[in-house]
Amino acid sequence: SNNVAGELGHVTAMAQGAERPCVCGKTNCLTKFISLEALEADYGKPYGQLVEDVRRKEPKAVALIEDVCAYLAPILANVIILLDLDRIILCGCTVEHFESIIYPCLDRKIRKLLSYWVSFKRLEIHTNVKITAISSRFLLDYYFSTESDIRL
Ligand SMILES: [Zn+2]
Repeated sequence: SNNVAGELGHVTAMAQGAERPCVCGKTNCLTKFISLEALEADYGKPYGQLVEDVRRKEPKAVALIEDVCAYLAPILANVIILLDLDRIILCGCTVEHFESIIYPCLDRKIRKLLSYWVSFKRLEIHTNVKITAISSRFLLDYYFSTESDIRL
């Protein structure tokens, strides 16, 4: 009713250290740790430099992106368990720029947090596509799959 459903950026991240106030009125929202602005602040350099340093495998830069996975994994795992999701689709500049680190790291961390009986099959990272196109394709795939029980 408030158009904020699915606003993953404002779920609470399990973080240590000083609390980070958010514009939403809470502290330690996920966005305060993994957004472009948060990564720049934590790295102490412009985002473009972080992208370049990760590409060159600078340890501090790579560790920062691995921290992104550490923040995201428990949140996504809880959503997967709660809703019995079979896939998670991620997009956006952070996952696009750092896909080579985020994909294996996040996939491994998520799977460690899941029970045996959830349906989770795969993590997908999509680049340069609109979320509506991804969502439409997903719904069409699901609707026409043999596993679907939403057919008319
Ligand atoms: Zn917030």
